[in-house]
Amino acid sequence: MTDLFAALDLTAPEITGGTLPVRSPIDGAVIAHVHETPLGDMPAVIARSQVAFRAWREVPAPRRGELVRLLGEELRKAKAELGALVTLEAGKITSEGLGEVQEMIDICDFAVGQSRQLYGLTIASERPGHRMMESWHPVGPVAVISAFNFPVAVWSWNAALALVCGDPVIWKPSEKTPLTAMASMKIMQRALARFGDAPEGLVQLVIGGAAVGDALVTSRDIPVVSATGSTRMGRIVGPKVAERFGRSILELGGNNAMIVAPSADLDMAVRAIVFSAVGTAGQRCTSLRRLIVHHSIRAGLVEKLARAYASLPIGDPRAVGTLVGPLLDMAARDAMLAALDQAHAEGGTVHGGVAVDAVAGGAYVTPAIADMPGQTAIVCEETFAPILYVMGYDTLDQAIAMQNDVPQGLSSCIFTLNMREAGAFLNAAGSDCGIANVNIGPSGAEIGGAFGGEKETGGGRESGSDAWKGYMRRQTNTVNYSDALPLAQGVRFDF
Ligand code: NAD
Repeated sequence: MTDLFAALDLTAPEITGGTLPVRSPIDGAVIAHVHETPLGDMPAVIARSQVAFRAWREVPAPRRGELVRLLGEELRKAKAELGALVTLEAGKITSEGLGEVQEMIDICDFAVGQSRQLYGLTIASERPGHRMMESWHPVGPVAVISAFNFPVAVWSWNAALALVCGDPVIWKPSEKTPLTAMASMKIMQRALARFGDAPEGLVQLVIGGAAVGDALVTSRDIPVVSATGSTRMGRIVGPKVAERFGRSILELGGNNAMIVAPSADLDMAVRAIVFSAVGTAGQRCTSLRRLIVHHSIRAGLVEKLARAYASLPIGDPRAVGTLVGPLLDMAARDAMLAALDQAHAEGGTVHGGVAVDAVAGGAYVTPAIADMPGQTAIVCEETFAPILYVMGYDTLDQAIAMQNDVPQGLSSCIFTLNMREAGAFLNAAGSDCGIANVNIGPSGAEIGGAFGGEKETGGGRESGSDAWKGYMRRQTNTVNYSDALPLAQGVRFDF
C-alpha cells in the first residue's frame, strides 16, 4: 500500500494526521487520514479560479487541448497504479478499476479533438447586408461534485471538456474517496508542469463533505455546477443553483431496466444481465435493477440466472478471478438486506442476497434475485446494491409502460430479435430514458455518446456528443456590413 501511495506521489503528510478517515471497502480498514479543506478557505479557492479564468479564456482552444492531451499521456503512464487505487478505495475488481482509468484516457482523447471543433452556426439573416452567427465562449469556473462509485472518471468527463472549453475546474470528490482524487490531481500536476504556462489555480481540489460542496453550489462566481450522486443530493443542489440562476448538470440516481422479449437470444441476455446487475457489486448508476420478462420465458430465464449467480466468485477485488467485490460499507449492506426484507413483505421470492464473510471487515454479499408479483414500492427505489427485481409481462406496450413507470430515467434496454419491437422501444412512445439500448445491457457506456438521464436522474448530459455546450456560453452575433439600418420584422422607426 505504501508503495502504491508513493508511486502516485501521495506523501505521508498528505495522507496522515488529517480529520477525514479513509476506509478501504475491501476489509473496512482505515488506510489514510486526509486533510479537509477548511470552509474559511473556500472564498480564496473560488477567487483563484476566477483569476485563472480570465487568463485561460484567452488561450486558443487547440492550445488548451494540448493540456488535456498531456493529461491523457500522464494517465496512460499511471494507469496501473491509479486503477489499483480505485480498487483499494472504491472496492472495484481490478479490471473495472483499470477500466475506469481507461475511460479517463478516452475522454481526454475525445476532448483534444473537440478543442478544434467548438463549432458555431452561421445563420441566414432576413436583412440585406447582414450576417448572423453563433459563437461559443468560455463560461467560467466549473464545480465538479462527484460520487464514490466512479471516483475519478466522472471528474475527467467534466474536467477534460471544461478545460478545452476555457473553464477552470474545482473538484469536490466524495468524502468516501478522496485518495483517488488526490492521486488524479498529482497526475494533472505532471501534465500542467509539462504544459508550462497554465494559470495558477486552473484545476483545484477541495476535500470534504456536503458543507464544502455547498460553498461551491451557492457561489455566484461558479456559473456551472456539475453534481453526480443521489437524487436526494440533487434535490438540494438543483434548487440552490437555480435560485442564483446558475447552470447545473445533474447526474443522479437510476433504476435501470431490461425488457426480455420471447425472441431474445437468451444466452446473450443472461451474459448481459449478469454483468449489468452484478458488476461493480450493483453500485453503478447504470446497474440493471429491473428485469421485465415475457411470461412465456420468465421461469426458464430466472432458473438460468440463478445458476449463473451461484457460479460467481465473490471476494477480494484484487484477487485474480473475483467478479463480485465488496459493497462500499456495512451501511450499504444493511440497506440491501432491508430492501430484500421489504421485497419479501411485498410478495417477492428472494434468491441469494445473504451476507458472506469473504474478507473480514468487508461488506460482502451474494447478489440477489427477487422474483416479484409486480412493480411494487421497493422496486421503484434505487437500492445501491446487486438486487435484480424480476417481473413478468404479456404485451410489449405493458412492458414499456412498466419500464417507464418509475421516478428515475437513466438507462434502459431491450433484448429482442424482432425489429418491430426494437423500433417501438427506441421510438418517441418507447423508453423515456436518456440511454436506450438494443441487445446490450444498460451499463458500460462509451464516452462518445452524451451520458445522463431524465426525470429524477436530473436531466444532465456529460461526456460525448455535444455535451461540451454545457460548459460554454452561446452568443448570437449579427453583423451589419451595409450602409443602411433596416429593422427586423419590417418595423419602421424613422425620425
Ligand atoms: P451522494 O449523493 O451521497 O454524494 C455524492 C456527492 O454529493 C458527494 O461528493 C457528496 O459529498 C456530495 N453532496 C451530498 N450532499 C450535498 C449537498 N447538500 N451539497 C453539496 N454536495 C453534496 O452519492 P454517493 O453515495 O456518493 O453515490 C451514489 C449515487 O450516485 C447513486 O444514487 C448513483 O446512482 C449516483 N450516481 C449517478 C451517476 C450518473 O451519472 N447519473 C453516476 C454515478 C453515481
